[in-house]
Amino acid sequence: MDVKTPNKLLELAIHSLLNEESAAIQALEEIPRELFVPLFIAAFEGGHKNVLSAMVKVWPYYCLHIGSLSIQEPQHELLKAMIENLPVYPAPSSSSRGPKLRILDLRQDTDCRITCPEVSTKTPSCFYSCAYSDRSITKIERQLCCVNAECKTLLPRPVELLVDLSLDGSLMEKEFLVLLMYKIEESLGSLHVCCRDLQIDKLCKCKCTLKFLDLKCIDQLSVDRGSLSDITSILCRMIHLESLSLSNVTFRSLSGKVFKIFLSHLQRMEHLKELSLSSFCLKNHLDRVLRILPPGLDFLYLPFCDLSYRDFKFMSQSPQVTHLKLLNLSNNPMYWGDFEPFHTVLINLSGTLQHLEINHCLISDSAMSALIPALIRCTRLRVLGFASNPISMPMLVNIMHNLTPMKELKYVIYPIPVHCYERWHFQGSLDRQKLAIVQLQLKAMLELAHREDMNWITYCE
Ligand SMILES: [Zn+2]
Ligand SMILES: [Zn+2]
Repeated sequence: MDVKTPNKLLELAIHSLLNEESAAIQALEEIPRELFVPLFIAAFEGGHKNVLSAMVKVWPYYCLHIGSLSIQEPQHELLKAMIENLPVYPAPSSSSRGPKLRILDLRQDTDCRITCPEVSTKTPSCFYSCAYSDRSITKIERQLCCVNAECKTLLPRPVELLVDLSLDGSLMEKEFLVLLMYKIEESLGSLHVCCRDLQIDKLCKCKCTLKFLDLKCIDQLSVDRGSLSDITSILCRMIHLESLSLSNVTFRSLSGKVFKIFLSHLQRMEHLKELSLSSFCLKNHLDRVLRILPPGLDFLYLPFCDLSYRDFKFMSQSPQVTHLKLLNLSNNPMYWGDFEPFHTVLINLSGTLQHLEINHCLISDSAMSALIPALIRCTRLRVLGFASNPISMPMLVNIMHNLTPMKELKYVIYPIPVHCYERWHFQGSLDRQKLAIVQLQLKAMLELAHREDMNWITYCE
C-alpha cells in the first residue's frame, strides 16, 4: 500500500464530514481527539463557521492557536464566531467531553502549531500563555492553590484570549471591540484578553478602549498620531516592550518635562529590540535617546528626525550603535561636508548591519565616495536603500562596481541619476527614456559581474 494512502483517506473522511455540516457537528461528540486538529484546519480553510463554532465549545486540548493559517478579511467572521463560542464561566457545556479549551490564540504566527504538545495531561500547559498580567491563568491558578477543592469548582475557570489589536477607528474594529467587551462581561472576570501587539492610529480616540486592556502584556506598540504626554501615560502601564514605533508625535519641547518622562519610561524597557521614531524632531538631542537605550537593540529607525552633524558625531561614539542589524536614517538631509562620523558609524556596524536605508538624505557624489570604503566593509549587508539622492551616472556605476562583490547583498534601491532630470527631483521633469537606458546599463553590468541574484530597483516619485 502506498504510504500516502492513510493521509488521503483522512482527507477524504474530513472532506465528506464537512459536506454535511450538521452531521459533522454531531460527530464531534464521538470522533477521536486526534482528528480535531486536521478537521479544524480544513473547517477554517473552507470557511465552515458553524463547524468551527461547535469545535471551539468542545475542543479537547488546553490551547488552540490559529498559527500559520491565513487570515484575510473573509476569515474575520470565523474569528468572531470562535470568540462568541469560546466557553467562559458560567457557560456549562452540555457536551460529554466538557470544555478543555483555556487559551484561544487568534494571532497569526507561522512558527506556531494548532495546539501545543502535551507534556503532562494532569497539568496541561501552553508555550504562549500570558506571563505578565495579574489576570493570567498562571497567576490566578497560583492564588487558587490555597482554596479548598469544593469552592474551586464554584469559582470561574480562568481563560485567555490572545489577540493582536489594530485600533484604527474602522467599523470592523468597533464591531470586534464590542464583541470583546461582551465576552469579558459574560465571563464575570474570568476571561483575560491578552494583547501583545497593539497598533494605534490617533491615540486620543482610543483612550476608552485602552482601559479594558492590561498593558503589561504588550510587547509591541505602534502609535501613529498622538501627543507625547498621552504616549507616556500608556507607556507607564507597560513593563517589557520589545518594539516601540512612534510616528507623528506632538510635544512642545525637547527640553520639557514630558520628553524627560518619556525618556525615563524608555529607559525601563530593558528588552527593547526595535525602536522607530519617525517625524520626531530630535535635532541636537539624539544623544539623550541613545544613552538610555539597552545594549541589545537590533533595529533603529530614525526617518524624518532632522538629525544634525552633532547627532551623527554622537552616533559614531555611541556603544548602542555598534551592533545594529538595521539602521534607517532616511529623510535626514546630510548637507555637511565632513562624512567622517557617518563613516565611523558604518565601520562600527560592519560586523552586524544587514539593512541600511539612507534614502532622500541629499547625499552627493563626494559624500558617497567617502562612504563607499565603509559600506563595502559591511559584509553582512542584505538590503541597501539610497534612493532619491543627487548622484551622477559615473558615481552610480562606481557604486555598482564596488557593491557587486558583496555576496550577501541582494537588494539595492538606487537613486535615479541626476542627468535623467531636467531639474533634479522636480516633479514632471524626469526623462523616462534616459532612465530606461540607465536601467539597461545597470542590468548589463550585473550580468557581467555574474550577479543576476542581485536586485537593483528604483522608484519614480
Ligand atoms: Zn499552546
Ligand atoms: Zn496577558
